[in-house]
This record gives sequence, C-alpha cells and structure tokens, in this order.
Amino acid sequence: KFITLDGIDGAGKTTQLNVIQEWFTAQQLPVVFTREPGSTPLGEQLREIVLNPASKMTPKAETLLMFTARQQHLDDVVFPNLNKGINVVCDRFTDATFAYQGGGRGLPYAQIAALEQWVQGDFQPDFTLILDVPLEVALQRIERSREKDRFEQEPAEFYRAVRETYLQRAASQPQRYAVLNSNREKEVVRQDIFNLLNQLFER
Ligand code: C5P
Ligand code: MG
Repeated sequence: KFITLDGIDGAGKTTQLNVIQEWFTAQQLPVVFTREPGSTPLGEQLREIVLNPASKMTPKAETLLMFTARQQHLDDVVFPNLNKGINVVCDRFTDATFAYQGGGRGLPYAQIAALEQWVQGDFQPDFTLILDVPLEVALQRIERSREKDRFEQEPAEFYRAVRETYLQRAASQPQRYAVLNSNREKEVVRQDIFNLLNQLFER
C-alpha cells in the first residue's frame, strides 16, 4: 500500500513517523519510508532549493518544482517498490501541494489538480493520515524551531489557510483520510495510529 503522512508544520510528523515505523517492524511487513520533496538525488537537490530562505520563486515555479520532485520520486522509488509488494510510507505528498501552494500561496486548486492528473494520472495514496493541531500550537512550535525554512517564515494567515485546506480535503473524502488530533498525550496518539494501521491492513 501507498500511505502518506501530512499536515501543518509543527503537527508532529517526525514523532508519528517513528510510531508508524515501529508498527511495521512489529508486524514484520515490508516497507520503505520516503519524503517529498526528496528521496531521489534530484528530489533532494530540489528540496534544498525550495526550503532555502534565500531562494526566490513564484508560486507557479514552486509548484512545478514540487511536481518535478514528485514525478522522479514516483518513477524511481514509489512505483518500483509497490510493484514488488513493498509498502511505501511517504512524508508529505500531493495534499501538501494543495495545502501549501494552493491554500498558502493562493494558487487555484484546479491548476494544481491539472498537474496532479498529468504527473499521477489516477494514482492516489491508499490512505492518508493528516496530523492536526490547533493553529496556535503549530505557530508556537514553528516559532521555536531554530533554523526556519522558507515556509516557516510565513505569517499566521498562511498557516491558517494551509491547515484549512488539509481539513477540507480530508472531510471531502473521509474513506481515504484520517485526521488525527496530535495535540494529545503521546501514548494516546500512538494507540490511534496503531489502530488505524491494524484496520488498514486487517490485522
Ligand atoms: O520537514 P517538512 O516536511 O516540514 O519540510 C518540508 C517543507 O516543505 C514543509 O514545511 C512545507 O512547508 C514545504 N512543502 C511545501 N509543499 C509541498 C511539500 C513541502 O510547501 N508539496
Ligand atoms: Mg516542516
């Protein structure tokens, strides 16, 4: 299966990726972990460019770079693994493009959907986990991060729109998404993730 993990910066993606890894290890299921933008040489180079606060680019250019990284990642990593029966868990995918470049930067969703169709055809994640925290919590966590990337310099309004887009997308397709409030005890969130994965893999 192709599983993606997404959500606003500061929602605790890194912590929950470790929980997901723990589950796959315990279940002895084959899995690779990847991230976007990244996980190919080209993708990692593009990641440095798009996250560098010194980079200047238009929202359209930014969106094209995200899809460039995505295309390479799909062909070189995601599809070959899925074809071998290996699960792929990806740290951010096209939902992030709708949220950040659409919601955050204000690019029309239809333009992003057109690129999505071109790059992915009808390919979609089997399951997407959206980690969510209240905006204020996310902003506080972003504020505390020592080296802010190009996105983490953005104002609260940007992040409000990013979060809203994630929540709207999840609500519009409840069978593909789960929204997890990660502003709770670590152990509680962990159990929720285990339950979701058990359900998904019918364990
Ligand atoms: O580590 P993290 O996943 O947060 O770093 C990736 C960053 O790149 C995110 O903070 C997000 O702001 C940005 N991003 C984006 N659009 C994407 C994927 C990532 O703006 N499609
Ligand atoms: Mg981040």
